[in-house]
Amino acid sequence: VSLNLRKQVDDCKPYIAGETEASVLKRYGLNKVVKLGSNENPFGPYKHAKKAMQESLEVVNRYPEDDYVELTATIAKINNLDVTNIALGSGAGNVIETVARLLLDEGDEVLIAKPTYRLYREVSILMGATIREIPVKSDFTYDLEAMEEDITDKTKLIWLCNPNNPTGVINDRKELESFIDRVGDDVWIVLDEAYADFIAGGQRPEIVELLKNKKLIVIRTFSKFYGMAGVRVGYLMAQAAVISAFDTITEPFCVNRTGLFAAKATLLADQEQADRIKNLILDERARMESILNEMGFTVIPSSSNFIFAKLPNDLYSATICEQLMAKGVIIRECDAWGYPAYVRITIGKKEENDFLLNKLADVI
Ligand code: PMP
Repeated sequence: VSLNLRKQVDDCKPYIAGETEASVLKRYGLNKVVKLGSNENPFGPYKHAKKAMQESLEVVNRYPEDDYVELTATIAKINNLDVTNIALGSGAGNVIETVARLLLDEGDEVLIAKPTYRLYREVSILMGATIREIPVKSDFTYDLEAMEEDITDKTKLIWLCNPNNPTGVINDRKELESFIDRVGDDVWIVLDEAYADFIAGGQRPEIVELLKNKKLIVIRTFSKFYGMAGVRVGYLMAQAAVISAFDTITEPFCVNRTGLFAAKATLLADQEQADRIKNLILDERARMESILNEMGFTVIPSSSNFIFAKLPNDLYSATICEQLMAKGVIIRECDAWGYPAYVRITIGKKEENDFLLNKLADVI
């Protein structure tokens, strides 16, 4: 029977989710599995977020109306923006998908880096857009000059991810801002900052300035830095007219009340804890980088909570990841991104990282 789906669906590749602990435990009959494959934060959710989630359970019979307004106001205040510059989504993934629906038409051209987060490609293709992939430079930073040269009359949108996934690499702030400044009048730029809170340093006032007049949309999430991947809260920041259009086409109440409670509590009360845990993660990252280097890996300097590294001895990432999984460790192979010699490792707790290092020594 023909399903008669939208024709673009055939061109989309299925989303390959990371393996879960439960599935790996069962498949290999193990009694312990450490998951370092999905860039989650092992320390979340934080104290006040947990308490707020419990409180939310008393009111989940009601739609999340006031909570939308309150979380939006909290995000606006923290970022020195107006509430009219913020909209919420069910995780950054949902925001990305809605932004694609908002901006893209059949025949539009879209630029993405190679490699980058896979969802940009799929949601763009689904809208009928054509993808141009611009390889990153040898140091894995974006080739912004090549991107600019690839802009045509048809180019509608450039997806940027900073720090980039799967590499963890950031671009020089000034270069990025100057690129947005040059290009952002003609072409939409979406800057996905899912991992930006892990960058050493503070706020980014210049970007906030650019939001006022450029075709720029900045996306953030509570999934990574705030350790709330399971409750699905993300948001975007843009000019008020963009936010109002986004809110018009997005599904009403697509963020759940428990997530909204948690996100607000986290921003208001858990910031200190989040910053402390950030330092723990960055210290662990430095330790892992140096041990992996000693083991013969080529580690790409990361500005996020994960490490992109080339395996020693021409080993193939899918094979190594399969062997590790059989020993109870989940990390991500990077062949799907076109980097068959690379793996992506999320920074976990010290004992989790040690468990990985131990198993890794057996397979390389
Ligand atoms: N953007 C990037 C770059 C990501 O890596 C991810 C998650 N892997 C997301 C967006 C989506 O995150 P979420 O939907 O959990 O907010």
